[in-house]
Amino acid sequence: MEESKKLLDKHTDEYWRCARCSLCKWPPLAQIKSAEFSSVCCSMDYGYFHPWSGGGKIVVGASLYYDRVEVTETMRDSVLQCTLCGACDTSCKYSADLEVLDTIFDVRQYIVERIGPHPSHKKYADAAEKYNNPYSEPHENRQDWINKTGAKSNPNSKTLFFTGCTASYRQQDMAQASVEILNAIDYEFQVSKDEICCGSPIYRSGQVEPSKKYIQSNIELFNRLGIEEVITACPGCYAMFVAEYPHRLDEAHIKMWKKIKFHHMVEVIEDAIRKKKIQFEEAEKKPIITYHDPCHLGRGAEPYVSEWKGTKKKVYNQITVYDPPKIYRRGTKGVYDAPREIFKRMNKAIDFVEMFRINEYAYCCGSGGGVKAAFPEMAMFTVKNRLEEAEFVLKKALKERDTEKFIVSACPFCKTNFEDGISDTGKDLQYRDINQLVLELMKK
Ligand code: SF4
Ligand code: SF4
Repeated sequence: MEESKKLLDKHTDEYWRCARCSLCKWPPLAQIKSAEFSSVCCSMDYGYFHPWSGGGKIVVGASLYYDRVEVTETMRDSVLQCTLCGACDTSCKYSADLEVLDTIFDVRQYIVERIGPHPSHKKYADAAEKYNNPYSEPHENRQDWINKTGAKSNPNSKTLFFTGCTASYRQQDMAQASVEILNAIDYEFQVSKDEICCGSPIYRSGQVEPSKKYIQSNIELFNRLGIEEVITACPGCYAMFVAEYPHRLDEAHIKMWKKIKFHHMVEVIEDAIRKKKIQFEEAEKKPIITYHDPCHLGRGAEPYVSEWKGTKKKVYNQITVYDPPKIYRRGTKGVYDAPREIFKRMNKAIDFVEMFRINEYAYCCGSGGGVKAAFPEMAMFTVKNRLEEAEFVLKKALKERDTEKFIVSACPFCKTNFEDGISDTGKDLQYRDINQLVLELMKK
């Protein structure tokens, strides 16, 4: 079997066990809270044709595996019009235990290896090769953002604040708010001039081989600096660290990876609130907020599970039984509670209302998986859907009261896409990054 086809060979169970039931297009029925906001797959909503769904991409994989179709650019782009948000995987596993997201990812990699990446994704990879970031920004300016704050870092700290490319060059205010919070709670950290792209934009666009050097280099950097904890405000980086890095590291690097604890800023803030290091002001006129779960802080941040090895047995020539039993990532063990705990403790400063699609059934903002770069119209289409939902719940909760309305999230990609969506639609609500909101409302 040719090497790249092994990617497809891993998923014969999915090809044969997928019931074509389409449950991956929605949250499980018992979890649906609104008829209007009930879909969970932004790819399907955009493409509006079965191959765009999770189950549809399994059929694409089967068709390629059994040589029924040829790879084309149209096929590649349909498969890339998916944010890898993982909602299909979580919905399917509610009843069927298929590895939908893994299949989608491997089909993506297979197609990209056959005919090359999307031109926008190639541009990102080429830029990262040259500048260590996909935005073609000078590497030496990577940590300039910290000099624009009064924040202090300690070069000897065992904790590294990993900025990530987007917060370093495009959304610096979130990184600045994060380190100001760390200073305020006396949490020592360092930043490193040798930090490079975490690899996510390259990896997730199907360019897995070229992404490996970023994965390895960052782990070697952490090891060289004696880092025991890495904190980041970027879910893209965070999900890479906790869930994807170990898949792509050799034994020696896995040993280095195992020595490090990875945390997203919301976990650090929640912990500081519990220890009473952060308290919030009372507000005279409380704004009302709702929270968008970033896919890579939720489903995508569920910790790594090592690849299953064992014997597969067929029962009644239909049911597959795994011996030893297989451990699944279901998207339910991501970071869902920490941001909500933060909002609970802010209750004298804000009113909080949930959207319909939350936690492991959250709808994507439309920005991830390389979609914003290659298919900006899909990113805009998706974020408008999510903004409609936010606007609906905020207005309903407000009744006649007049106050500021915020959609809050914890991700630089969500920030960019929500800000673009709000500006495009002129909707009467604002975006706030959770770090900026905490910094604004905490007692100084
Ligand atoms: S992937 Fe799962 S939920 Fe989707 S059609 Fe197949 S069996 Fe049904
Ligand atoms: S990963 Fe997300 S966007 Fe892609 S098919 Fe699954 S639900 Fe749809």
